[in-house]
Amino acid sequence: MGAYFAFGRCICCGRHFTFHPERVPSLIVEGEREPVCRACVDKINPVRKANGLTEIVPLPGAYEPGSEEGDFSFSEEGE
Ligand SMILES: [Zn+2]
Repeated sequence: MGAYFAFGRCICCGRHFTFHPERVPSLIVEGEREPVCRACVDKINPVRKANGLTEIVPLPGAYEPGSEEGDFSFSEEGE
């Protein structure tokens, strides 16, 4: 069983990116849960901290795997 990922638009910068729908950090905008890309999380955190808010900590696997570590081993076993 592999992880599943969604493809969407960052609510902050408008960039398209791949993310895990249940793990990605998000902002509630007009009642909708909108995903935030990693670059924006890094930008938002100092602002949140300065305003006395807790920093956003992305969960492990919140973003597309392999993009930084280069792990493209998708093996299918058992059949
Ligand atoms: Zn963004």
